[in-house]
Amino acid sequence: MEAEIKSGLLLILSGPSGVGKDSICRLLTSRNPNIVTAISATTRKPRPQEKDGVHYYFLSREEFERRQAESRFLEWAELYGDYYGTPCCEVERLSRQGKDIILEVDTQGAMQLKAACPQGVFIFICPPALADLEQRLYYRNTEDEENRRLRLAIAEQELAQAAFYDYIVVNEHNKLKQTVEKIEAIIAREKSGGKSFE
Ligand code: 5GP
Repeated sequence: MEAEIKSGLLLILSGPSGVGKDSICRLLTSRNPNIVTAISATTRKPRPQEKDGVHYYFLSREEFERRQAESRFLEWAELYGDYYGTPCCEVERLSRQGKDIILEVDTQGAMQLKAACPQGVFIFICPPALADLEQRLYYRNTEDEENRRLRLAIAEQELAQAAFYDYIVVNEHNKLKQTVEKIEAIIAREKSGGKSFE
């Protein structure tokens, strides 16, 4: 389904699990009030600190499938045994506010968005090395061993798709601010004559 997007940039941010996408989005949006991250829907269980409607819209599989059948997602994918999707209404709501919108999605979702929103700016976040991902996933300790292994296996497949994106940004260890500055430079470039809506 297509969402009506009025103005502002649509930034599609992908990268393997554990690469630091959440931290990047948090710092980027706190430094730039006109940039917001769209809240996705998922069927995975909330982590202890996660709140419905803040981190995700947490749905049952039945409810997700019902909305999917009604074409209420701009894109969706099944990952690690759960569904994740971008609600059309969420993107429309933010776009009515004239915001630049970040969609944090996996590579399957990004492929769908490339077709639905070709004017989007596609950014892939890479770790400096695969070993970094393994370490980050281990220390953040939000998944069990089996899910962690699954995430690492899928990470290798995702990294192979980086070339499909408009920009590749390496999130160096302990250099979050630098990573965010690189993305801010991409946004400034896109706004001054790159791809945009309207
Ligand atoms: P997590 O379970 O760690 O919150 O998210 C796992 C992965 O799901 C993330 O790496 C992210 O790329 C992906 N993801 C989150 N929201 C969406 C979404 O709305 N659509 C798609 N396709 N992927 C998503």
